[in-house]
Amino acid sequence: MESIAFFDAKPYDREWFDKINRDFEIRYFEGRLRPENARLAEGSRAVCAFVNDVVNAKTVEILSSAGVEVILMRCAGYNNVALKAAKEHGLRVLSVPAYSPYSVAEHAMGLILALNRKIPRAYIRTRDFNFSLNGLTGFDLHGKTAGVIGTGRIGRVFIDICRGFGMEVLAHDPKPSPDIPAQYVDREELFKRSDIISLHCPLTRETRYIIDEGAIALMKKSALVVNTSRGQLIDTEALLSALNDKRIGGAALDVYEEESGLFFEDNSDKIVTDEVISLLVSRPNVLITSHQAFLTEEALRNIAEVTLKNYSDYLSGGKLDNEVKAKDT
Ligand code: NAD
Repeated sequence: MESIAFFDAKPYDREWFDKINRDFEIRYFEGRLRPENARLAEGSRAVCAFVNDVVNAKTVEILSSAGVEVILMRCAGYNNVALKAAKEHGLRVLSVPAYSPYSVAEHAMGLILALNRKIPRAYIRTRDFNFSLNGLTGFDLHGKTAGVIGTGRIGRVFIDICRGFGMEVLAHDPKPSPDIPAQYVDREELFKRSDIISLHCPLTRETRYIIDEGAIALMKKSALVVNTSRGQLIDTEALLSALNDKRIGGAALDVYEEESGLFFEDNSDKIVTDEVISLLVSRPNVLITSHQAFLTEEALRNIAEVTLKNYSDYLSGGKLDNEVKAKDT
């Protein structure tokens, strides 16, 4: 039976892969894939990796020398994979381009509602029988303007959700879609006019730090920034500085540029030395979740099904619909 070396395995991964898997032996490893442990893949022709695994050129080289032929990314993004190195070593890379745009878009709106209406603060208060409303004032979303950067699968679901709330929607995407119920504008106009700004584009050379000092300077002082895409879309130090100076209204972050090694893990009994996240966590107008936007039953089922089908397609020599190639970055 063919086997898959499965890295960064969490209980919810195992639950769904074990439920769906019929054809393969899955060797689960808890550690994130990185050069130091890539050799563990020896004996498997496929490795399965996730968003914060370190699939750099060194890892790829070791995987290749260990006999690995395929990297199965169980996620949509593949910015952490050295695609050129994979190509040079003849490794194929497959991903799960779409598993549930609803999971991420709904989480983005959940974050906005929680941040704007201060629901986590209210929850903590009422748990302690503090029923005061002081400091909990939000604003109506109805009639406000949402700015959506990236109108692909997730962005368009998010736009529909915003429209359901009675919001105007401005959008920015280098490849506009004709049937999107939003007005496409340039980035500067979107930053200037939006009450909430939600990021739904991939992390590429062009989009790294798409929210930087300059972008923040254009925003309304009340603007809420929401990032459920990739941490490096935001220059976090610039964001923190703007929050400190009250130059923006707040931020909801499901991703963080230095999340690797921190997110997805329980660090509650450790001293977290990352000063930026420590300061962000302490701000009343910041809400952080730990890259959980994808975490719905539907998404986990689809991820397991498509990842395993990707490998079956590879083994049968069939067409690889979900192959990612170096030129795609
Ligand atoms: P998609 O490929 O369907 O859409 C991405 C859109 O971004 C495309 O329309 C593309 O043209 C646009 N884009 C590219 N460059 C841009 C730029 N410079 N400015 C504005 N738009 C640009 O992808 P998707 O399925 O909608 O996913 C979007 C992103 O969400 C992924 O790349 C991934 O990083 C992130 N994601 C996060 C989670 C999570 O759990 N937090 C889960 C899944 C995906």
